[in-house]
Amino acid sequence: MAHGSFATVITCMDGRVQEPVSKWMKEEFGVDYVDTITAAGPDRLLAIQNPRVAPNIRERVGISVEKHGSKVVACIAHDDCAGNPVSKDKHLEHLAAALRVIESWGWSVRLLGLWVNEEWQVEVISDTNPGR
Ligand SMILES: [Zn+2]
Repeated sequence: MAHGSFATVITCMDGRVQEPVSKWMKEEFGVDYVDTITAAGPDRLLAIQNPRVAPNIRERVGISVEKHGSKVVACIAHDDCAGNPVSKDKHLEHLAAALRVIESWGWSVRLLGLWVNEEWQVEVISDTNPGR
């Protein structure tokens, strides 16, 4: 097992979201490192189970969970996403569907759905363990 504690994010390749998300995850979960899996609009790519991208994301989440011992996996959707240029409502639909796909992968981890708003602030949309 790797040294230090890890969390996992599946986030957009958009350079505006990675820093706020990484910082938020470190503060929220007190982890040393955030494994960052990027794609262009990952909420949609997972929701539709894109045959080229979804298995690759799954493989990378697996490394983070199994080799780094991550206990929490967050999927991110964000405002002004060029990779998935849809309304916020549609993003939140994609995010919910994406989380169902991630859950189906079967790891016993806490799952979060996060929205990064137009101020580049992180908002919790869903959390499988909200009463911690
Ligand atoms: Zn994006």
